[in-house]
Amino acid sequence: MKIHNTLSKQKEEFQPITPGKVSMYVCGPTVYNLIHIGNARPMVFFDTVRRYFLYKGYDVNYVSNFTDVDDKIIKRANEEGEDCSVISERYIEECKKDMESLNVMTATVHPKATEEIGGMIEMISVLIDKGFAYRAEDGTVYFRTRKFPYYGKLSHKNLDDLRSGNRSILVTGEEQKEDPLDFVLWKPKKEGEPFWTSPWCEGRPGWHIECSVMSRKYLGEQIDIHGGGEDLIFPHHENEIAQSEASSGKEFAHYWMHNAFLNIDNHKMSKSAGNFFTVRDILAKYEGRVLRLFLLSAHYRSPLNFSDPLMDSAKSSLERILNCSDNLAYAAEHAKEKEASETEKQILAEAEKYRAQFEKAMDDDFNTADGLAAVYDLVRYLNSHVGEQPSEEFAKGAAELLRTLTDVLGLDLSPRQAGDNDADEEKILAMIAERQEARKAKDFARADAVRDELLAMGIILEDTREGVKWKRA
Ligand code: AMP
Ligand code: ZN
Repeated sequence: MKIHNTLSKQKEEFQPITPGKVSMYVCGPTVYNLIHIGNARPMVFFDTVRRYFLYKGYDVNYVSNFTDVDDKIIKRANEEGEDCSVISERYIEECKKDMESLNVMTATVHPKATEEIGGMIEMISVLIDKGFAYRAEDGTVYFRTRKFPYYGKLSHKNLDDLRSGNRSILVTGEEQKEDPLDFVLWKPKKEGEPFWTSPWCEGRPGWHIECSVMSRKYLGEQIDIHGGGEDLIFPHHENEIAQSEASSGKEFAHYWMHNAFLNIDNHKMSKSAGNFFTVRDILAKYEGRVLRLFLLSAHYRSPLNFSDPLMDSAKSSLERILNCSDNLAYAAEHAKEKEASETEKQILAEAEKYRAQFEKAMDDDFNTADGLAAVYDLVRYLNSHVGEQPSEEFAKGAAELLRTLTDVLGLDLSPRQAGDNDADEEKILAMIAERQEARKAKDFARADAVRDELLAMGIILEDTREGVKWKRA
């Protein structure tokens, strides 16, 4: 298996630290808002990486954090007159719902920054003891960047270039830094902010330290893979490396993987630029699995431009797969013959070449675009080779192969059910309730009108003994 490593800028053969095991840490979202579909790209992609390792028989330990203390959360909390923890808990829950809609597996651990402050204080203390960090007069603790000889190895930046090229690093109020490149590990509290006591001052951690600490706590000092969006390479991941390696004296992550951006009109989708769609916005129009397929339709290191036509094309691609899978399920259920004929066995054996094609794509730095192409080829092959009356064994075997590959991509092939798609489900349920009310009040004209309105939306009602049921026409 080859993985493109940001450290070497090359594809390298994957060698796990412990045979048969993979440890992965993926930087998670800052929770002050609903996540947008740009944030969903690393979630879906790294979940697919995890699933492919599982498919290959590895044990995967997968950790992804929630950043639940940060300037943006504090700002939002102050605007809403709420405690920070109320805001962050709310959006952690919302984020988990979105992950579920996108069929992203729950991490082995989802640590939260605010629950790991003790570990952060401990790592910062070690860094100070080793001379890699210092306390300024106001209680801020900085990392002494120049003391760490490998600073810049991930982003391929040279300290002197950084210094002359990025004057903005010297921010007013930070004259107390020994060097403009030094970054914050701990900062004093401000009015209205959450804080913790520490040996240096009452305050809170800088952003970067949390990932070094959580990764070490849940995965150990050395990990196989660290992932995130490419905007995190500098400074976040560069700083994580400095903190982790300076404190442990060991190489931190062996493979650094970074996804390219999800763009709109060729600009990075971001909350701060205001050019974003939340996952929730998209789920109002498309099923989660359509969005997931769209996000996997480009190689993760290529930018992906969001557009309605591309979403529609993802939708019809998914439908092709679902039709094939549904037809095979129907055929298996209604088969007259149990056992596969010789010809069918040959067809199934032949179909294995698409699994090989799929693995070849995924082994080559997780090329999900080519992996999907292998799935489409398999679908085309099956559609043209399934006979009029396939045997049960054949139909099940073919369906199983298709499902194995789509499972790696996290694409759920369960048949469409009424309500699956539906952000409008709430509306439908509200209308059904309204019709019930009208019927109770003997306003049958109104009840019928609501029923017709639903019918116009493609929703068919059925009055059963257990209550009203509905389905799509
Ligand atoms: P944030 O909440 O901004 O820290 O982002 C959480 C994750 O989403 C990080 O891995 C970011 O790199 C990633 N991310 C943010 N915006 C985008 C985007 N437009 N395209 C791809 N990844 C993104
Ligand atoms: Zn991180």
